[in-house]
Amino acid sequence: MGLRCIHCGSEVKKLYVQYSPGNIRLMKCENCKEVADHYIECEFMIILIDLILHKQKAYRHLLYNVLTQDVIDAKGILWKSSLSYLMLDTCIFF
Ligand SMILES: [Zn+2]
Repeated sequence: MGLRCIHCGSEVKKLYVQYSPGNIRLMKCENCKEVADHYIECEFMIILIDLILHKQKAYRHLLYNVLTQDVIDAKGILWKSSLSYLMLDTCIFF
């Protein structure tokens, strides 16, 4: 699953180009001609507020452009959830 434009949801190759440390240029979506993901430059609190307000663009940013396969440790989540399930299941019997 690749990176996606937060406005139209179409796939984009890059979200930004970095010229030097701290100097980036946001890429535009080829489909809708908008900046593909402007949340890259926003602070976490702004993104969190938009997530609380259920803005679709903020969810697209989080799900498609932040939480990629490289970031998520699926094996660790599986082990932790299995262990939690077994512990909670044991508590039912006592
Ligand atoms: Zn777009």
